[in-house]
Amino acid sequence: MHTRQLSENLYIIDLQPLGIPNFIASYVLRGKDSTAIIETGPTCSINNLLLGLQELGVSEEDVEYVAVSHIHIDHAGGAGTLMQHLPNAKLLVHPKGAAHMANPQRLWEASKQVLGEVAIAYQEIQAVPENRVVTPADGAVFDLGGNIKIKVLETLGHASHHLGFFEPSSNGVFQGDAAGIYIPPLNVTIPTTPAPFQLDTTVASIQRIIEMSPSRLYYTHFGPVENAVGHLNGYVAQLRLWEKTVAEAMKTGDNLQTMYQKILDHDPQMKKAEGLIRNHMVLRKGVVMQNIQGFVEYIKKKQNSLA
Ligand SMILES: [Zn+2]
Repeated sequence: MHTRQLSENLYIIDLQPLGIPNFIASYVLRGKDSTAIIETGPTCSINNLLLGLQELGVSEEDVEYVAVSHIHIDHAGGAGTLMQHLPNAKLLVHPKGAAHMANPQRLWEASKQVLGEVAIAYQEIQAVPENRVVTPADGAVFDLGGNIKIKVLETLGHASHHLGFFEPSSNGVFQGDAAGIYIPPLNVTIPTTPAPFQLDTTVASIQRIIEMSPSRLYYTHFGPVENAVGHLNGYVAQLRLWEKTVAEAMKTGDNLQTMYQKILDHDPQMKKAEGLIRNHMVLRKGVVMQNIQGFVEYIKKKQNSLA
């Protein structure tokens, strides 16, 4: 399996869903008394997650918390299946996502609608028993013992049910999808902005993370990033660039394909990632188009509200 130690108490598991490396991570944080898992990935890679725990010597009884940044299938779709293996674990999820974790039927249907065959390959979302779902308030702290804890940070914008988690011992933040997808071999980010994406809310959430002066970001997609504050400022600049590029393209009535071309012309990170996206089993299936569409809808809504 593919686990790696990131700090004294923190480990990453490369879940390799559908055999894709460096795409979806779970993190394992070990305190003196108990263990937390951050992000579950989809159902199809829960076996890999369990193998990772084994490799790290974490017993299934020791896991007290499974924290998910938001309920999208690539972050939390496997929670129900995972929880069946972890007799003592509670699921930490944003209050707006809790009902969907306990009754995932609508979430599963929506996932299939948005992602099509990728959702099918990720496999069906199983329910988490309602009495095992915890909906922490913003700022809530969960103590794992030995001064290891995670603090909940509401970080809306990518979704209306998005949380980040601050990890003080390494001064890092699990940012979920609040700050894009990171592609480690290329050192670039790709925005994560599908509708109903909220740009202003996203920027405010990132500002909130910046104010904590973290040293590192822990990306679900994918891996640790140093120089967290510089990286986050760069992401905000990238979002502003997309906003400007898409708004101008809307004026000339461009379709999504033409908008993508214009983004490739203006955004050097996207230009660098173009070939990887074209050959990526999941990213090539319209993910970037959905992110452009998220900007189109956001800009339209904003124009309507100003009109
Ligand atoms: Zn994601």
